[in-house]
Parts: sequence; structure tokens; C-alpha cells
Amino acid sequence: MKIVITGGAGFIGSHFIKYLIKKYPRYKIINVDKLTYAGNLKNLKEIKNCKNYRFVKADICNQKIIEKVTEGCDWIVHFAAESHVDRSIKSSGDFVQTNVVGTHVLLEAAVKNCVKKFVHISTDEVYGSRKRGFFTEADNLDPSSPYSASKAASDLLVLSYVKTHKLSAVVTRSSNNFGPNQFPEKIIPLFITRLLKNKKVPLYAKGQNIRDWIFVKDNCRGIDLVLHKGKIGEIYNIAAENYLNNLTLTKKILKKMKKPLSMIKNVKDRPAHDFRYAIDAKKIKKLGFRPRYSFEEGLDLTIDWYCKKK
Ligand code: NAD
Repeated sequence: MKIVITGGAGFIGSHFIKYLIKKYPRYKIINVDKLTYAGNLKNLKEIKNCKNYRFVKADICNQKIIEKVTEGCDWIVHFAAESHVDRSIKSSGDFVQTNVVGTHVLLEAAVKNCVKKFVHISTDEVYGSRKRGFFTEADNLDPSSPYSASKAASDLLVLSYVKTHKLSAVVTRSSNNFGPNQFPEKIIPLFITRLLKNKKVPLYAKGQNIRDWIFVKDNCRGIDLVLHKGKIGEIYNIAAENYLNNLTLTKKILKKMKKPLSMIKNVKDRPAHDFRYAIDAKKIKKLGFRPRYSFEEGLDLTIDWYCKKK
């Protein structure tokens, strides 16, 4: 089994590669990553010399390289993306380029090279916000940021290739991931790394926004299930059902790091800040998915990791 993983030097992709190598030592893995600010080969230092692992530094928008690298591969798992909402508000060009054009290049290569399975990694943010209730995979997309709009566009492109070209593709949409190795721009690693430097943590909207958190290793197990058992053309929400508002989350981090509440600095909200993300995960549960990490356990592991790295 030869698998091309895109964006494998990033946060979730690097955890997924390490997970695959451990669980399926016979699989051959090719990691294609451009190494943007968010990609870091140190995330993969434990496996960099494994015989069944190869790294290719490349942009997924480069059609020639992508066609070559996917030649003879069985599966593609596509993580590569520009992934930070705040950056997409300041400048969205790279988001459209990588998330939409890059996905298109990969889809074309997958069709040309008769790839047997294409797993597209997407996000719960494509559904937009809802005050109560849960989005199922059948719900309409209503993205609010250029990031989530570019991901929604890529999801629709993938699903169109299933219908038009009979590509064997599946889509996963997970909630917010957290864990070691995440670039410190998203709320959990940003707050931990700032507190380690005794700097205040900037909180939008007094922390009222609600997010559902999944420990990254649990998401990897969900993606593995979809890769091996997911039905072609289907979308799978992946969630661990840990709903917290950002103030509660921040207080937990402060308490675990023994910092006072005065370390919170309320800042002006981001435009179009989604109030609440909430997805229904019944479908992935039917494939056998159960999260293994409680939120507290995952947060302890994450804080420990950043403390040791300091
Ligand atoms: P990340 O930003 O940590 O990593 C992205 C990786 O993609 C980096 O290694 C980067 O170098 C690479 N990359 C970016 N542009 C590229 C290009 N043009 N060509 C090749 N490589 C490129 O992202 P992440 O948090 O690991 O997210 C991975 C995927 O999961 C993304 O598709 C994201 O939308 C999705 N997702 C993330 C979360 C989350 O909470 N982090 C939640 C749901 C879904």
C-alpha cells in the first residue's frame, strides 16, 4: 500500500503519519509538504529515517510534481491547507490558492493516476455557526471566513469528482483539534506559549464563543477509520463532544498553569466570528469511532509537551 499524505509536516498530518507508521508498518508513506510557516519537519523526527517513509518538499499547486509523486500510489490523504482563520481575514490569496487550486491539482492527478481512495480532510467550520442543535453531514454549507469558504469550495470540488469522474473520495469534517506540535497561533498553543513567557492571553468576545474540542490522536483514529472503512462519496463528521466556551477553556489553561485570571486581556472581536460550532458525530460512531482521550487528559498532555519544549 503506497499512500501520499499532503501537509504531513503540519500539526494533524504529522500525528497521522506517525500513527500510520506505527499501526501499519508495511504501508509506504510519501509526505508532500511545501513547508510553509506551519510545516515543521521536527514534528516527524522520530520517523524520519524509517525505510517506509519519504519526504518530498513540494507545493500541491505544482501540477507536474503532483502528477509525478502520485504515480502508482494507492491512496491520497489530503491535509495540506492554509488553516488559520485570522490570517485568512488579513489576506486570503494563499487560502484560495492552496485550499481550492491545490485541491483541484490533487484531484486531477488522482483521476489521471487511477488513485483508489482519496480522503479529503475538512473542517466543521464549513457548516458555519448555530446557536443550538448539531449539524449533520446532510446540512448545507454556510461558511463565514475566507478560510472556511475555501475549505467548503474544496469539499464541493472533491464531491463533484466523485460524481463526475467516479473518483473514490471521502470527506472528513472534524471539530477543533488540539495537542502537541500545533503551531502557536491557534488558541490553545498560543495561550500556553504566551503564559510560559508570562505574557497575557488575548481573548475575543469575552470568551463567549463555543467550540468542540478533539484531541489530535483521536481525530487520527477517526481518519484511519474513514480511510479503511469509509463509504465512497460520503462525508464523516468527527467530534469528541467536548463543548466549551473560550472563557471556560482559558480558565482551565490558567488553572493548570497556575496563573491568575488577570492574565486574560479582552481584545476586539474578529469579524464574522462564528458563535458556536457543533456537529453530530453519529455517522463516524457507526464506523466504530470512540474518542479515547478526555478533554482534561488531552489538555494535560498538551500543556506538558509545551512546557518540556520551552
Ligand atoms: P497546519 O496549518 O498545522 O498544517 C498545514 C500543512 O500544510 C503545513 O505543514 C504546511 O506546510 C502544508 N502546506 C500548506 N500549504 C501547502 C501547499 N501549497 N503545498 C503543500 N503543503 C502545504 O494545519 P492542521 O491544523 O494540521 O490542519 C490540517 C488539515 O486539517 C487542514 O486541511 C485543516 O483545514 C483541517 N482541519 C484542521 C483543524 C484544526 O483544528 N487544526 C480542524 C478541522 C480540520
